[in-house]
Amino acid sequence: MTQDNNQVVIFLGPPGAGKGTQAERLAAAHGLVKVSTGDILRDHVARETELGQQVAPILAAGQLVPDEILVALIRDRLSSMEPVRIIFDGFPRTQAQANALDLLLEELGAPVNAAVLLEVPDEELIGRIVERGRQAAAAGQPVRSDDTEEVARRRQEVYRQETAPLIKYYQQAGRLVEVDGTGSMDEVYGRIENAVSVARSR
Ligand code: AMP
Repeated sequence: MTQDNNQVVIFLGPPGAGKGTQAERLAAAHGLVKVSTGDILRDHVARETELGQQVAPILAAGQLVPDEILVALIRDRLSSMEPVRIIFDGFPRTQAQANALDLLLEELGAPVNAAVLLEVPDEELIGRIVERGRQAAAAGQPVRSDDTEEVARRRQEVYRQETAPLIKYYQQAGRLVEVDGTGSMDEVYGRIENAVSVARSR
């Protein structure tokens, strides 16, 4: 890590690309907190909070939860963080979220260091998601309501329309780090470590 105590990394990439797993590992290796908005929302659904009841049908349909809700969650999460050492998994997912995040981070003096784009061919993604659902079921773990083939396809579409434009946004900001997301988990992780350390030393 650099002398700068603040570190902000974003994981971009389509559903099924492996963001959660890889973000978790990078966070553990560098003393960063992984914030997965999908996990936070699923936790609300499981606890049947007011927010959980509101968002459950949206998650099950593979659509995006409104920006205001996400921005409020992230604002809350960042407010108690000093220094800001964070990896975002699944946030931002829209241009409005990216703009709001930039403003929040500017206030904290902790700009985005790297936006890691995990690239996996479309034809692999659906298979990976359906397999994740199958494995969870086989292990007796809860199966995500959105890990079915039909909803997985909708999530890819939503990604392409709403989230993929952020690739250009972070590229123009000079923050984009593209990583091949195919191969074993260790191979992908090694590529991420390399790419992020190159990005940091720039
Ligand atoms: P994930 O676990 O990242 O695949 O997210 C699962 C679901 O949670 C998504 O399909 C959305 O319904 C919702 N979600 C997670 N993060 C966001 C976000 N940043 N903006 C809107 N909806 C989100």
